[in-house]
Amino acid sequence: MCFLSIDIGATNTLIGYGDQEFDFIEKTKTEQFLNEIENFIENKLTDEQLDNLEEVAVAVAGPMDREKGVFYPPNIEIDQVDIITPLEGFGDVKIVNDCTSAVLGEYTYGDHSTENLVYITISSGIGAGVIIDGNVLEGWNGNFGEVGHMEIGDRGLKCGCGEEDHWEAYCSGNSIPKLAEEVAGEEYGNALELFEEYYSGDEKAERAIDEINRYNAKAVTNIVNLYNPEKIVIGGAVALNHPEEVVQPLQNLIKDRTINEEPEIELCALGEHSVLHGLRASCRR
Ligand SMILES: [Zn+2]
Repeated sequence: MCFLSIDIGATNTLIGYGDQEFDFIEKTKTEQFLNEIENFIENKLTDEQLDNLEEVAVAVAGPMDREKGVFYPPNIEIDQVDIITPLEGFGDVKIVNDCTSAVLGEYTYGDHSTENLVYITISSGIGAGVIIDGNVLEGWNGNFGEVGHMEIGDRGLKCGCGEEDHWEAYCSGNSIPKLAEEVAGEEYGNALELFEEYYSGDEKAERAIDEINRYNAKAVTNIVNLYNPEKIVIGGAVALNHPEEVVQPLQNLIKDRTINEEPEIELCALGEHSVLHGLRASCRR
C-alpha cells in the first residue's frame, strides 16, 4: 500500500517513497532522471518496496498534456517526455502541475489554517497553485497557474516562452542577472552573485534587489486581486535561499495597493518538499 512521489523540477528531481509518511526522500538531476526513469526507480527501491508500491504521483514544472501523459520540460534539451509509459508498471500513475501539488501539500500539512491559500514558487521559473474555498484549481487540462507569464514589466526583457515583459523574465532565478544588469549596469554571473554583492553592502546590488521586489509586488498584487486569498506562501529556491530579501518586503510593498484585503504573506512551511507532500496528500486521500 505504498506510494512514490516524483517532483520533476526544471533543475532537480525529488523522489519520495513511503506509506503514511515518507520513508525516504532523494534528490537527483532532472536531466539524468528523465533519461532513465524506469531503471532509476528499479535501482532506488528494494524488491520489497517495489512489491508494496501501488500509486505513483508525478508533478511537473512545465506544461503537460494529461491525456497523452507527456510534459514539455523547460530549460532542458528534451522536447517532450512520456511520463506514463515508463511508470505504469509500478502502479497507478497520476500527473499534476508542480505548483498545484505544492499548494495542496502546504494546505494539508503546512498548518496554515485557511481554506483560501496561494502558493507561489520563485525558482528557475515562476508559477502558482491556488486553493479557493478548500478546492484546488487545476484548469481544464491541468495546466493552471502559469502566473510567471503575466505581463508586468516595461523594459522589454525577453521571457523563455518567447514573449516580453513577463514576470518570469524579470524575477525568476534565471532572469534575475539580466534585470540586475539593466538596473545596476553590472554583470552578474547568476542570481547568487547578485545576492552576495548585496550582502557585502554593495549599493548597486541593493538597487537591483529593490527593483526585483517592486516587480514581485506588482505581480503579487494582481494575484491578490484575482483570487482573494487569505494567505500567500512563497517557495522556490530564490525565496527559500533569500527569504529576508525576497519574501519579507512583499507584505509592506503590497500595502494599500490591493483592492482585496491584504493576505498574510510568508515563506512556505515545507521548504523544498511542498510539492512532494502535495503528491503524498493526493495519494493518501
Ligand atoms: Zn513568458
